Amino acid sequence: MIKMKIEEDKLKCVFCSGWAAPARFHYREYLVRGWVCEKCGEKIIHHDDAGRILAINKLAHQKKLTARIAKVGNSFVFRIPKEVIVALGLKDKEVLSMSISNPKLISFAIP
Ligand SMILES: [Zn+2]
Repeated sequence: MIKMKIEEDKLKCVFCSGWAAPARFHYREYLVRGWVCEKCGEKIIHHDDAGRILAINKLAHQKKLTARIAKVGNSFVFRIPKEVIVALGLKDKEVLSMSISNPKLISFAIP
């Protein structure tokens, strides 16, 4: 963990003592919140986004995740494990797009 001094939304960079300004940037395939040092260009990822990336990577390495179908009134719902919802930052009643590639594969996309 990199300890940074917080001052007016900017952080003191521990690498060069310059100031890092709040920014959004890409880290691998993720768009994350964080800070970019104005002097040396070092990027610091917000701890919440770093935690989500770690949780997603942990889930991605599990051999099998399951979602159970349940009937609620006249509809059916997918029951997705809570750790998946938290890792992906999804919320109750959020709408996802769905596609069926073949009879054995359903894919969901987060808007
Ligand atoms: Zn720096």
